Amino acid sequence: MSKTLPVFQDSAICTPCGGHCCKTIPGMTMPEDWGAPDMTTVTGRLKEAFASGRYSLNWWEGESWREQPELHGKVFIVAPAVEDGEGDTEYPDNVGGGWFAPPVRLGCTFLKSDGCELGFDSRPHGCRTLEPSIMGNCKPHGGGMAEFALAWAPYQEAIAMARANT
Ligand code: SF4
Ligand code: SF4
Repeated sequence: MSKTLPVFQDSAICTPCGGHCCKTIPGMTMPEDWGAPDMTTVTGRLKEAFASGRYSLNWWEGESWREQPELHGKVFIVAPAVEDGEGDTEYPDNVGGGWFAPPVRLGCTFLKSDGCELGFDSRPHGCRTLEPSIMGNCKPHGGGMAEFALAWAPYQEAIAMARANT
Protein backbone atom coordinates (compact mmCIF):
# COMPACT_ATOMS: atom_id res chain seq x y z
CA MET A 1 0.00 0.00 0.00
CA SER A 2 1.36 3.36 -1.00
CA LYS A 3 1.66 5.98 1.70
CA THR A 4 2.76 9.01 -0.19
CA LEU A 5 2.27 12.31 1.49
CA PRO A 6 0.32 15.47 0.95
CA VAL A 7 3.26 17.04 -0.82
CA PHE A 8 2.11 17.88 -4.23
CA GLN A 9 5.37 18.18 -6.08
CA ASP A 10 5.96 14.43 -5.83
CA SER A 11 2.49 13.01 -5.77
CA ALA A 12 0.29 12.61 -8.81
CA ILE A 13 -2.72 12.50 -6.50
CA CYS A 14 -1.85 15.46 -4.28
CA THR A 15 -0.74 17.85 -7.00
CA PRO A 16 -4.17 18.40 -8.54
CA CYS A 17 -5.73 18.43 -5.09
CA GLY A 18 -3.44 21.19 -3.90
CA GLY A 19 -3.31 20.18 -0.25
CA HIS A 20 -6.89 20.18 0.97
CA CYS A 21 -5.77 18.31 4.09
CA CYS A 22 -3.04 20.85 4.82
CA LYS A 23 -5.52 23.69 4.43
CA THR A 24 -8.09 22.20 6.75
CA ILE A 25 -6.67 19.60 9.14
CA PRO A 26 -2.89 19.71 9.52
CA GLY A 27 -1.54 16.38 10.66
CA MET A 28 -0.97 16.10 14.39
CA THR A 29 2.33 15.13 15.92
CA MET A 30 3.15 12.30 18.28
CA PRO A 31 5.52 12.67 21.25
CA GLU A 32 8.08 10.59 19.34
CA ASP A 33 8.26 13.41 16.80
CA TRP A 34 9.77 15.50 19.61
CA GLY A 35 12.22 13.00 21.05
CA ALA A 36 10.01 10.94 23.37
CA PRO A 37 10.38 9.17 25.67
CA ASP A 38 13.07 11.56 26.90
CA MET A 39 11.04 14.20 28.75
CA THR A 40 13.82 16.78 28.77
CA THR A 41 14.27 16.50 25.01
CA VAL A 42 10.54 16.77 24.41
CA THR A 43 10.24 19.83 26.64
CA GLY A 44 13.18 21.59 25.00
CA ARG A 45 12.05 20.91 21.49
CA LEU A 46 8.48 21.96 22.24
CA LYS A 47 9.72 25.18 23.76
CA GLU A 48 11.52 26.00 20.51
CA ALA A 49 8.48 24.96 18.49
CA PHE A 50 6.04 27.15 20.39
CA ALA A 51 8.48 30.06 20.33
CA SER A 52 8.61 29.79 16.55
CA GLY A 53 4.87 30.39 16.34
CA ARG A 54 4.54 27.56 13.87
CA TYR A 55 3.05 25.02 16.22
CA SER A 56 -0.09 25.16 18.25
CA LEU A 57 -2.29 22.88 20.32
CA ASN A 58 -5.27 20.76 19.52
CA TRP A 59 -7.02 18.99 22.36
CA TRP A 60 -9.25 16.06 23.10
CA GLU A 61 -11.67 15.40 25.88
CA GLY A 62 -13.69 12.65 24.30
CA GLU A 63 -13.40 8.92 24.19
CA SER A 64 -9.90 8.77 25.57
CA TRP A 65 -11.14 10.36 28.78
CA ARG A 66 -14.01 7.91 29.13
CA GLU A 67 -11.86 4.93 28.30
CA GLN A 68 -8.94 6.09 30.41
CA PRO A 69 -10.22 7.59 33.70
CA GLU A 70 -6.72 8.75 34.54
CA LEU A 71 -7.05 11.31 31.76
CA HIS A 72 -8.90 14.10 33.46
CA GLY A 73 -10.24 16.81 31.20
CA LYS A 74 -8.43 18.12 28.17
CA VAL A 75 -5.48 16.32 26.72
CA PHE A 76 -3.38 18.64 24.57
CA ILE A 77 -1.92 17.43 21.29
CA VAL A 78 0.81 19.34 19.45
CA ALA A 79 0.12 20.15 15.80
CA PRO A 80 1.20 22.70 13.20
CA ALA A 81 -0.42 26.09 13.50
CA VAL A 82 -2.80 27.34 10.86
CA GLU A 83 -2.46 30.82 9.46
CA ASP A 84 -5.64 32.80 9.78
CA GLY A 85 -4.95 35.25 6.99
CA GLU A 86 -4.39 38.11 9.41
CA GLY A 87 -0.84 37.30 10.35
CA ASP A 88 -1.77 35.15 13.31
CA THR A 89 -1.35 31.44 13.69
CA GLU A 90 -3.47 29.07 15.66
CA TYR A 91 -4.88 25.59 15.38
CA PRO A 92 -8.37 25.29 13.89
CA ASP A 93 -11.12 25.61 16.45
CA ASN A 94 -11.82 22.30 18.05
CA VAL A 95 -15.26 21.42 19.27
CA GLY A 96 -15.40 18.04 20.92
CA GLY A 97 -12.71 16.63 18.74
CA GLY A 98 -13.93 18.15 15.48
CA TRP A 99 -11.78 20.58 13.59
CA PHE A 100 -13.70 22.43 10.97
CA ALA A 101 -14.61 25.95 11.83
CA PRO A 102 -15.37 29.00 9.71
CA PRO A 103 -13.96 31.19 8.36
CA VAL A 104 -11.85 29.32 5.84
CA ARG A 105 -8.24 29.65 6.84
CA LEU A 106 -5.11 29.78 4.75
CA GLY A 107 -3.80 26.46 5.90
CA CYS A 108 -0.90 24.90 7.70
CA THR A 109 1.96 27.26 8.35
CA PHE A 110 4.28 24.84 6.54
CA LEU A 111 2.18 24.76 3.37
CA LYS A 112 3.79 26.61 0.48
CA SER A 113 2.75 27.06 -3.13
CA ASP A 114 4.67 23.95 -4.17
CA GLY A 115 3.79 21.84 -1.15
CA CYS A 116 5.05 21.17 2.34
CA GLU A 117 8.27 22.94 3.19
CA LEU A 118 9.24 20.25 5.71
CA GLY A 119 11.30 17.24 4.74
CA PHE A 120 9.64 13.87 5.06
CA ASP A 121 11.16 12.99 8.43
CA SER A 122 10.27 16.37 9.90
CA ARG A 123 6.60 16.17 9.12
CA PRO A 124 4.09 15.32 11.83
CA HIS A 125 3.20 11.69 12.36
CA GLY A 126 -0.29 12.39 11.07
CA CYS A 127 1.11 13.73 7.79
CA ARG A 128 3.58 10.91 7.30
CA THR A 129 0.86 8.32 7.68
CA LEU A 130 -1.83 9.84 5.46
CA GLU A 131 -2.64 7.83 2.37
CA PRO A 132 -3.82 10.04 -0.52
CA SER A 133 -6.77 8.88 -2.57
CA ILE A 134 -7.60 10.00 -6.06
CA MET A 135 -11.24 10.03 -5.04
CA GLY A 136 -10.50 12.45 -2.21
CA ASN A 137 -11.17 9.86 0.44
CA CYS A 138 -7.69 10.10 1.91
CA LYS A 139 -7.07 7.66 4.71
CA PRO A 140 -5.26 8.39 7.95
CA HIS A 141 -3.25 5.40 9.11
CA GLY A 142 -1.66 7.06 12.10
CA GLY A 143 -4.47 6.70 14.59
CA GLY A 144 -7.50 8.72 15.63
CA MET A 145 -7.94 11.44 18.22
CA ALA A 146 -8.04 8.94 21.07
CA GLU A 147 -4.72 7.39 20.06
CA PHE A 148 -3.08 10.80 19.82
CA ALA A 149 -4.53 11.87 23.17
CA LEU A 150 -3.41 8.69 24.90
CA ALA A 151 0.07 9.10 23.47
CA TRP A 152 0.28 12.72 24.61
CA ALA A 153 -1.23 12.20 28.06
CA PRO A 154 2.13 11.43 29.75
CA TYR A 155 3.62 14.59 28.22
CA GLN A 156 1.12 17.19 29.39
CA GLU A 157 3.59 18.59 31.91
CA ALA A 158 6.21 18.90 29.19
CA ILE A 159 3.73 20.90 27.11
CA ALA A 160 2.87 23.11 30.08
CA MET A 161 6.53 23.76 30.85
CA ALA A 162 7.32 24.54 27.23
CA ARG A 163 4.40 26.97 27.02
CA ALA A 164 5.36 28.64 30.30
CA ASN A 165 8.84 29.33 29.04
CA THR A 166 7.84 30.97 25.78
S1 SF4 B 1 -3.40 13.69 1.06
FE1 SF4 B 1 -5.42 13.87 0.13
S2 SF4 B 1 -6.27 15.87 0.80
FE2 SF4 B 1 -4.03 15.85 1.17
S3 SF4 B 1 -3.11 16.83 -0.67
FE3 SF4 B 1 -3.09 14.59 -0.98
S4 SF4 B 1 -5.01 14.15 -2.08
FE4 SF4 B 1 -5.20 16.19 -1.18
S1 SF4 C 1 3.18 19.80 7.99
FE1 SF4 C 1 3.28 19.74 5.74
S2 SF4 C 1 2.18 17.87 5.13
FE2 SF4 C 1 1.62 18.33 7.26
S3 SF4 C 1 -0.27 19.57 7.15
FE3 SF4 C 1 1.46 20.99 7.20
S4 SF4 C 1 1.97 21.43 5.03
FE4 SF4 C 1 0.69 19.56 5.09
